[in-house]
Amino acid sequence: MAIDGTKIIHAVMEGSKIRESKGIIPLFGVYLSLCATQYYNKLSFDFEEKMGKKRESEARTLLIGAAQECGYATFQGIRDSWEWKQVVAPMIENKEDQILGFAAVAVAFGWGDLEVEELIPGEKLIIRVSDSYEARGYLEQHGLAKSEKCYMLRGVAGAFMDLIYGGDYPEGLYVFSASETLCRAKGDAYCEFIARKSSHRSDA
Ligand SMILES: [Zn+2]
Repeated sequence: MAIDGTKIIHAVMEGSKIRESKGIIPLFGVYLSLCATQYYNKLSFDFEEKMGKKRESEARTLLIGAAQECGYATFQGIRDSWEWKQVVAPMIENKEDQILGFAAVAVAFGWGDLEVEELIPGEKLIIRVSDSYEARGYLEQHGLAKSEKCYMLRGVAGAFMDLIYGGDYPEGLYVFSASETLCRAKGDAYCEFIARKSSHRSDA
């Protein structure tokens, strides 16, 4: 059976009606909250700017790393959840389908319109996003960028591969890392993320 993204979106919409008193949404085994994308973008891009030109790449590495660690832990919780077992697991026929399931959940969470373009098991994942909120937000706030800007989705692409092909949790974090080869913030038609094995890991 193919992964039915619409079914997953409906399950998330239904489940997200339940809120704790502070607005926390307990769903898919993890705690979620509604966050305005403009607010998240402001934090990210202001952080990058405040770090200054000299520490620009360090700022990016930190933002991508934060997203990858968050994605790794969050989706580990998600795939262990009751909702995953009820809604997504019945559609999964092989290991690769899990990545499609992750992408569908990320779409349902409002992280972007993720589409898996290519998946070579254990080697490479290509995800395409035509309306990344990070790219859109950057364009709105700062205009055309000189470099790619979707740090959250870039970390998440690496995390998906870490979870499926990185070995046992929690040892698999950073086995893979993603680059953003095309980004709408710098004028490309869409954003494209390619996750491969990290070169800096000797055990990878
Ligand atoms: Zn982008």
